[in-house]
Amino acid sequence: MPSKFQSGDTVMGRWPGSSLYYEVKVLSHDTDTQLYTVIYKDGTELELKESDIKSYASFRQISGRSRSRSRSPARRRSRSRSPARTSRRSSSRTSSRTTEGKIDKLKEVLEVRLTPVVLPTENNSNNQHEKEDTNEPNIESEQRSSGRYNLRRRKDGDPKQAEEMKKVDEDSTTLKTEELEFGGRIGTFGMLLFLPSVVLLLLLQVSIKDTGLLALPASFPSAEVLWDWQVFGLVIFWLFFQALLYMLPFGKVVDGMPLKTGKKLKYRVNGFHALLITGVFVGIAVQQEMDLTYIHTHFLQFYSSALIMSVLLSIYLYTRSRLLSEEERAPSGNSGYLFHDFFMGRELNPRIRNFDVKFFCEMRPGLIGWLVINFAMLLAEMKVQKLDFPSPAMLLVNIFQLLWVADGLWHEEKILTTMDIVHDGFGFMLAFGDLVWVPFTFTCQAHYLVNHPSELSKLFVAVIITIKGIGYYIFRKANSQKNNFRRNPSDPSHIHLKTISTATGKGLIVSGLWGFVRHPNYLGDLLMGLAWSLPCGFRHALPYFYLVYLVLLLIHRNSRDELQCRKKYGSAWDEYCKAVPYRIFPWIY
Ligand code: NDP
Repeated sequence: MPSKFQSGDTVMGRWPGSSLYYEVKVLSHDTDTQLYTVIYKDGTELELKESDIKSYASFRQISGRSRSRSRSPARRRSRSRSPARTSRRSSSRTSSRTTEGKIDKLKEVLEVRLTPVVLPTENNSNNQHEKEDTNEPNIESEQRSSGRYNLRRRKDGDPKQAEEMKKVDEDSTTLKTEELEFGGRIGTFGMLLFLPSVVLLLLLQVSIKDTGLLALPASFPSAEVLWDWQVFGLVIFWLFFQALLYMLPFGKVVDGMPLKTGKKLKYRVNGFHALLITGVFVGIAVQQEMDLTYIHTHFLQFYSSALIMSVLLSIYLYTRSRLLSEEERAPSGNSGYLFHDFFMGRELNPRIRNFDVKFFCEMRPGLIGWLVINFAMLLAEMKVQKLDFPSPAMLLVNIFQLLWVADGLWHEEKILTTMDIVHDGFGFMLAFGDLVWVPFTFTCQAHYLVNHPSELSKLFVAVIITIKGIGYYIFRKANSQKNNFRRNPSDPSHIHLKTISTATGKGLIVSGLWGFVRHPNYLGDLLMGLAWSLPCGFRHALPYFYLVYLVLLLIHRNSRDELQCRKKYGSAWDEYCKAVPYRIFPWIY
């Protein structure tokens, strides 16, 4: 069925759970679910049914009638002394520079400003949420009881005031990051020094043969140990090789999520092809007796070269971001503070023609590089320990991580909906993460095994494989179930699932894996991370570096995501949390 409204249309959208309409812009229309994604003036995005949307012209007729009868909720609201009149935006990452003084002078129209706020909603229930859907809502009581949003009116005035109002509106759309992340200016400056040091320390520790947990390397490595121009050339070659594979005309082209303008960027999805082609080249290199253990013996130099490349890339990204338009900026990286913005990234989707630098770095050189390094460590183990075959521990680590990366590249387009692509700018944080952190820390188990043999009993191997299998099952099943349910909630294969309906029209699965913990996919990921570390035994904590990092990362990610869900779903989310009390770890957290 063709959609009634088009992307970019300005229409009036009903606020879920009330009969209030606000001016919204249509971002996209999902033909499967028949839902429109719309954006409110304050940046809130929701999905609405067609029946909850009215064209601007028809709404004006209706609102004109209702105003003459003094029945408009907005009119009643103007007499109120609600705290909302003086409240400020609190929930958005970007800020409006609207000032109370200016607002007070503005003219009275039917439009209202809408400000979602995150407040505890213990008194809310989903039922109440739905009962509020009446023709004559009591806005103040709704606001008090749910605490979900504030409404602020504009007052009538002369043309000068109208002009002022226009300026306020323009100001309110100017993007400036006010909520600084990672400890703000000082924290992000610290991260610039801290992250490269952590990786260097880890690499130095892993390469020492019989290192104690707290033993520090005897001395800081010399310049020759850290730098080699040939290795630097190889790193550049690797980046260009992967870029070339990325540009090959294989694989489908898919749409990204709608941008603020409603436009969608196109992405070529051919990561799995790139993995296969790289695999063929590695095979040829081995057959030609190229010594891939060179990667192990020059690992620190590879690290320094990758670090330099990530710094150069971040400088390039920061420099080019000075010419950006508002729409191209990332909400999190435009505070005006040099180190913060350099770290967080100012530009959302840096592109050189059709080449998407962020998407490329997120999925290719680091992820595929991780596997090549693992393989080089496998060969190095055989060489150092004089083995005819790699050890079972090394094989398990290589196979498990190969499966994980291959799975990620097979489902490459899923990354287009993640926070990294949709929200975060591309700056040092992601450039370093993609080019250095992933390939040089995620390989710590294989790297460790080169110099630290680990004997595994058959029973222990079976236990490890079982943990990995369970982890993978939970991870894949949870992700697929949620993705399929989101794409087509009425599919008969979901009939057995219990769900909680929300005011946005989307349901929340509350049975099966999603009824066990609130983030089963994170649980699966963590079980897999555990299975990657166990083959290294229990003599040292270093192989568990990745696991500790993953626990911290997913706990942080979970709280970020739950905050967003509470904003999106209000009381329905609270009901879900009540029904499923554990976030990631059953009976613990
Ligand atoms: P999720 O894939 O878990 O997505 C979270 C979203 O799912 C929510 O915002 C909500 O969005 C929807 N949702 C939440 N609960 C429910 C429910 N009960 N029913 C239906 N929908 C629900 O999060 P991520 O994007 O963070 O993770 C994606 C994958 O990537 C995960 O498997 C994670 O483990 C993995 N990952 C791995 C990392 C690693 O280094 N190993 C790092 C980061 C992620 P909405 O309602 O809008 O659809």
